[in-house]
Amino acid sequence: MTAAEIREVVRATLSGLLSANVDGASSGGTVCAVGALLAATPSSATSSCATPSSAAPLSTLHSPLSIPLEVSARHVHLTQTALETLFGAGAELGQKRALSQPGEFLSDKRVKITTPDGEIHGAAVLGPVRSAVQVELSQSDCRKLKLDAPVRLSGDLSGAADVTLQGTAGKYTAHGAAIIAKNHMHCTPAEAARLGIADGQSVNVRVNTARPVIFEDVPVRVRETFSLAMHLDTDEANACALAAGNVGTLIDCGTAPAQCAANPDAAIPSPAANEPKPIICEKLISENRAKELIKSGGTVIFAAGTILTPSAKDIFLHAHVRVEFV
Ligand SMILES: [Zn+2]
Repeated sequence: MTAAEIREVVRATLSGLLSANVDGASSGGTVCAVGALLAATPSSATSSCATPSSAAPLSTLHSPLSIPLEVSARHVHLTQTALETLFGAGAELGQKRALSQPGEFLSDKRVKITTPDGEIHGAAVLGPVRSAVQVELSQSDCRKLKLDAPVRLSGDLSGAADVTLQGTAGKYTAHGAAIIAKNHMHCTPAEAARLGIADGQSVNVRVNTARPVIFEDVPVRVRETFSLAMHLDTDEANACALAAGNVGTLIDCGTAPAQCAANPDAAIPSPAANEPKPIICEKLISENRAKELIKSGGTVIFAAGTILTPSAKDIFLHAHVRVEFV
């Protein structure tokens, strides 16, 4: 099977996950490229956008709203100076394919990424040009390049690593440009309200795949222009055996576990007939806790792995309250 054929297989496998979008923070000036970028290999990717703003209080309980999962491959953002150094004076980025974020596109240019100890050919260049060069790699890419790059949200280049880029006309040394893009989640204000989350906070997302994984400390970005999605890189996607149609579920309180433990009842929503049941994310359900939970009746949904004491199980049983694990 040729490399091109392998790419097509991967593209077909993940096509359902790739909304060909690029997302970003409109005001922060940083935009992440997600999806549409299974350009080089199935083993690298990036995603993520601007830095979070102030953290908001978190709850232990969330609606089990399905979160689409989107994957992207390694890619490069260039400045005009870097573009012309790599491809000649007056070089421009031609649009090969539009990405979902208006104005963003997969360009007709590719570059080689090199370090003193390794190289990666054919990294996609996204357009339009930006004010800073940013090289978004996976951990696997960094191993190949023997590069120590930090995990950062797109746009945060603090501590970013140095790499050299090579185009058809020359080389460009990108100082402090290479990062492993941090996963993150996007949603609209309405979706955020439904999930009980806010811009800037971090959450835990359970990826419901054949090899389920809980990603912790996932920053949330809320914008009217976004749509609900979690963005992973290909290392993460491969690690959890991600396949088309898989979705994630918000299950936990990412940045405020102490608050959750201290006040687990605070976030229990009032029962509403048409509201989706929240997923309860607590390690251990005691008899007393079970007595509280049966008050809402119906079905009680726990995150997978939640332990119910025998007496708690009896409480649910005798109250005829169904228990589910997701
Ligand atoms: Zn993103």
